[in-house]
Amino acid sequence: MRFDIITIFPDFFTSIFEYGILRRARAGGLVEIATHDLRSFTHDRHRTVDDRPFGGGEGMVLKPQPIHDALASLSISPKEQRDTKRESVILLSAQGRPFTQAVAHELTEIERVVMICGRYEGVDERVNELMCDRELSIGDYVLSGGELGAAVIVDAVVRLLPGALGHPDSSRFESFGAQDVPEEGDPDAPPRATHGAGGILDYPHYTRPAEFEGVEVPEVLQGGNHDVIRLWRRKMALRKTLENRPDLLEKAALGDLDRKLLREIEAERRRVGGDSA
Ligand code: SAM
Repeated sequence: MRFDIITIFPDFFTSIFEYGILRRARAGGLVEIATHDLRSFTHDRHRTVDDRPFGGGEGMVLKPQPIHDALASLSISPKEQRDTKRESVILLSAQGRPFTQAVAHELTEIERVVMICGRYEGVDERVNELMCDRELSIGDYVLSGGELGAAVIVDAVVRLLPGALGHPDSSRFESFGAQDVPEEGDPDAPPRATHGAGGILDYPHYTRPAEFEGVEVPEVLQGGNHDVIRLWRRKMALRKTLENRPDLLEKAALGDLDRKLLREIEAERRRVGGDSA
């Protein structure tokens, strides 16, 4: 897989892909990441990439021509002839569709992804219309530029590439993991969860020491009963999702056991709420 990032600040990316999983994935040839200075595709003395907005208003807008030339230099097919299963051009934008784990999975299937980083008030809309396949937002807030968004997308996608993580299950059984797969193999192996994450958040994790600043690791995790641990983890994953992201529960792949656990959690919450009232 290859990422090309078009930006006015190519140095922004100098070290960001030099750590951990990304560094290993690049060194192992799983992914190539190249950055391209938008100013190299200007034709005036001042290397101008922006201009004032039609219709008035504050701020400047990135011009379409340098972006067009940057894409042409990368030999990206014109939009109407593009095989979007093989190559995709993404505009980073606060007005874009949400970038989610599901979109990250989709992007792993594409050999070549080009990302255009906006700046100032944004990018001339014709770039989106004529050159881009997707307009993606990394969240409901406004950043100063698309560079952080591009880095977020590269990170989230690369760790899903086969071979990027030490254990392939790591990306299946974490927050937002889509699969609901029964466990196979050794029944005595350490448990992961009762189900794949099924679109909910991960359960809380603990490591040594067993007691820190007076707070003990939950007793069930210190015992060796794998079934009890699985059940506890699923319940905690549901509890965290209910508390922090109840919207995810509406679309999650929940089973009868999950619904029973959720009823228990809600009853427990009502009891605690009642106690503190
Ligand atoms: N005027 C734009 C608006 O209100 O939607 C904001 C422009 S922002 C200051 C400049 C650039 O940062 C955008 O063109 C985009 O590339 C990037 N950007 C800002 N927020 C973003 C987000 N949530 N996701 C992805 N890119 C973002």
